[in-house]
Amino acid sequence: MAIKQFKTESKRLLDLMANSIYTNTDIFLRELISNASDAIDKRYFMSLTDSSITADDLKIKVVLNKKDRIITIEDNGVGMSKEDLENNLGTIAKSGSLEFKEQIEEKDEIDIIGQFGVGFYSAFMIADKIEVLSKKVNEEKAYLWTGTMDGYEVKAAKKDGPGTLITLYVKENTKEKKYDPYLEDYEVKSLIKKYSDFIRYPIVMDEETEVDGKKIIEEKTVNSMVPLWKKNKKDIKEEDYNEFYSMSYYDFEKPLKTLHYKVEGNTSYSALLFIPGVRPFNYYSTDYKLGLKLYSKGVFIKDEAKELVSDHFRFIRGVIDSDDLSLNISREILQEDHQMAALKKSIDKKIKGALEKMLKDDRETYEKFFDQFGTQLKFGTYDNYGMNKDELIDLLMFKSSYEDKYVTLKEYVSRMKEDQKDIYYAAGETIEAIKELPQLEKVLDKGYEVLYFTENVDEFMTNVIFNYDGKNFKSLQSGDLDLDTKEEKEEIEKKAEDNKDLLNSLKEALKEKVEDVKLSTRLKNSPVCLVSEDGLSFGMERTLNAMNQGSVKAKKVLEINADHEIFKALAKTFEANEAVDEYANLLYDEALLIAGLPIEDPLSYTKRINELMLKAMK
Ligand code: ADP
Ligand code: MG
Repeated sequence: MAIKQFKTESKRLLDLMANSIYTNTDIFLRELISNASDAIDKRYFMSLTDSSITADDLKIKVVLNKKDRIITIEDNGVGMSKEDLENNLGTIAKSGSLEFKEQIEEKDEIDIIGQFGVGFYSAFMIADKIEVLSKKVNEEKAYLWTGTMDGYEVKAAKKDGPGTLITLYVKENTKEKKYDPYLEDYEVKSLIKKYSDFIRYPIVMDEETEVDGKKIIEEKTVNSMVPLWKKNKKDIKEEDYNEFYSMSYYDFEKPLKTLHYKVEGNTSYSALLFIPGVRPFNYYSTDYKLGLKLYSKGVFIKDEAKELVSDHFRFIRGVIDSDDLSLNISREILQEDHQMAALKKSIDKKIKGALEKMLKDDRETYEKFFDQFGTQLKFGTYDNYGMNKDELIDLLMFKSSYEDKYVTLKEYVSRMKEDQKDIYYAAGETIEAIKELPQLEKVLDKGYEVLYFTENVDEFMTNVIFNYDGKNFKSLQSGDLDLDTKEEKEEIEKKAEDNKDLLNSLKEALKEKVEDVKLSTRLKNSPVCLVSEDGLSFGMERTLNAMNQGSVKAKKVLEINADHEIFKALAKTFEANEAVDEYANLLYDEALLIAGLPIEDPLSYTKRINELMLKAMK
């Protein structure tokens, strides 16, 4: 039988593994034990609904053979069919090849191994050959998977009951690395205690004891079997939580917050929840899997328990262990269960409460959180036509002109100027670009604070929030700002009247391009700016077109600063000037550039500039 090659990504990872760039080789044991435990979970769960499947004496057994340098890890879980062996152990199920490559290139190796949860492969750190003998429940045939660094093969084999027996051929010691400790009883026991203590099934090892002068070998359970979330809070150290977190989610960054609590009452449950410190690299892709597990009375029910938490909190990780769920329920029915809905409500509330508290008492941590998951909260606010906006709005933060720090809407409103009616914002690709916008000049001059909207979702969100604390959101780049006093308004109206003909000819020159040409009330130092009419903004136009939602166009208005030299000169020479058309177009292009929009006809633009230069140089 031909030896099969590992898939390319797997091969690369294997090389990393085998060469032990990841220094903590100890983790191989917890990985294999955790796989064994998952497999037993699956068998147990199946036995609840299928009476032909037994689930007695479920356990994991570790045996060391020092003489032949062999470790075996055996479980009586679900086992694997031939296809399972091929699919699960021949490739890295979790990784998309593309993201994998990005990881390799951008991050250091520890991160790669961490993020991918290489699981089974980690055994190649200490073994140069691995055998997996497995038989699936309810199947007749058993198979043997044999793998080395060069590839693997699967063939028919013999095995008694269902389950999996993994044999590791431990590498010889080298000058740099000693693999001997993994063959020592004491060392392996302490590794199990350290990493796998909470595994709910017994992890047994043989122990020699003397009974009535006779030496006999007895199986002894090494782990305490109490899951961490069932332990008493006062018996748990912070390291225990962090250790549990990092090994469950392959995240070596400490969680920002750990919530360990118990709820009694209509829906009783224990929860151990974590708010991660870093956003998983695939968080906003369809590959992202919610890291929330559901247990019932300590029995594993399902991974990715989406029905237990609102989408806007899907960064949460951890375990929910409910006392009330009926175990015989099928996994599909769970989704409609009203108990699940009650659980979800309670969990959402806890997460929200924790975030509110963090925002209030530990701003620094909250800002870290927001840097990672703030966009998610904004999407949550926007999604479903703003159904959850009241829930989330006070958790949002924006950078602003006040001091380049995050500000909440509550803070913004609390420091609004007495004469300020609206909440002002300006949108752009970056904060730096926004700061350059001419539209900000006058508002900042008045001492008003401006929120910087740098994410696509920001402006869309204002369309569902409408207002905060009775204050409307107003874009500095669209509509009428209504900034001026009665006198100022009258003055502008008069100027517009005086320059009616000029404005009309500018409008005529640009009639294909803008809806209107107006005297501006928001400019101070710049001659022109572009604003959109109320409704669709330039940023939204860009986003929608990028998302291929057809071709939409924001309605443009060119605003001119009547106090600027350019306008004054134009007004003076207008009657005798034949180049008004050209100037109109130049000013329009200038405004486009400042707004971060592409010039529609770069050739005409440069031609005009060149002609002007020539004129000036003559
Ligand atoms: P993960 O556990 O994160 O899925 P692993 O590399 O650890 O990744 O394991 C890959 C897959 O191989 C598992 O998802 C499981 O389907 C299968 N597997 C591994 N070990 C066992 C086992 N002892 N019994 C049954 N299936 C197993
Ligand atoms: Mg695993």
